[in-house]
Amino acid sequence: MQQLLEKILDARENRTRILKSKLENSEFVVTLSLNIPGISKKGDLKLKFIQKCFYEYLSNLKKFYETINFDFFEDEAGYIYYIEVAKGDPYQVKKLALDFEDILGKHSSLVDIDVYLSLTKKITRENLAKLPRVCLICDEFAKNCAFKQRHPIEELEKVVDNLLNLEIAFAFSKQYIMHDIINDVSEGKLSPSDRLKEVELSKKYNVSRTKIREVIATLTEYGLLAWRKDIGVIVKQLTYAELTEVIELRKCAKLIIFKDIFEKIKNKDHRVVVERVLEYLQFLDRSNLDLLKKWNEEFYALLFSISDKYFTKNLFNKFEILFSNVRYLISKKAESYFYVIHEQHINICIALLTKSFKELNKSIELYFEDIQKIIIKVMENE
Ligand SMILES: [Zn+2]
Repeated sequence: MQQLLEKILDARENRTRILKSKLENSEFVVTLSLNIPGISKKGDLKLKFIQKCFYEYLSNLKKFYETINFDFFEDEAGYIYYIEVAKGDPYQVKKLALDFEDILGKHSSLVDIDVYLSLTKKITRENLAKLPRVCLICDEFAKNCAFKQRHPIEELEKVVDNLLNLEIAFAFSKQYIMHDIINDVSEGKLSPSDRLKEVELSKKYNVSRTKIREVIATLTEYGLLAWRKDIGVIVKQLTYAELTEVIELRKCAKLIIFKDIFEKIKNKDHRVVVERVLEYLQFLDRSNLDLLKKWNEEFYALLFSISDKYFTKNLFNKFEILFSNVRYLISKKAESYFYVIHEQHINICIALLTKSFKELNKSIELYFEDIQKIIIKVMENE
């Protein structure tokens, strides 16, 4: 328990570092995280809950702003989104957050949306003439109850669990449903050629068929789904040629982003992020495959957070969508992939830190050569 507590504190410190580096590129930064008492900050229910909230808030923001970028992290302190709004008004962004809390009703006390103008200054509810938040259990202000530790942690945890199981007060946004379908593909719950039925999806997400149709149209445009005559919508199976192109595109995007990271780590705060990632990778327990897999994702989440090449990052995410069913095949059929990648990630970090751009390019090239080999093997066996 002591160890977990330390990890949570460590994660919080890291969050501050990421916030600081983001504030260097943006006038203000929004964070969306969960407010969960106790030390158990993660789990499926909590993850789904924050995703639903995030995508709903995002779709509200999108009504006002064209360019919204975000990064998502999972750490010992739970889950957190960092959102940057180009040409945004921080007070309006905060106001939208408060409006969203009103819609959320009972669930609102579980969500924290903070708008930071600097590391030490965030816009408060009081700034917008709103009363502070009320406690989950009694009618006092939440701050007072927390300060006086008025309620036992077990009681708070129970209230939170009950809330997480309650149905949420808004209809799911298109963004969330899209995200959920993509997730199902990368987890193998949906495989290539599987059929998606409009009626079933509209029941599952409790939204109109029009909304489902829009989601399907977008994912078809991205290339994840396809229409087949007499059958309907299916998960698309990429041809080998298409797959090769996607891999090439991912490589180009990664080169652009890594070049930017390379430039940015002249800054000390950014450099610390890379050093920490390297430290984690080097001391990682390689017999723990789940941990290796987790760090495969974490590596990009943390390093890419340094880069503000959002246009490329967004494109990269689209390639990742296309790559999701391949990723599932790899994780099922080629465990060696994760060991290879782990080695390569260490090499990339070292190349970044030794300030040799030539070395960096070389390590990225090698990384892709290895991946290509593994993918070809997996696809041949399919
Ligand atoms: Zn209370």
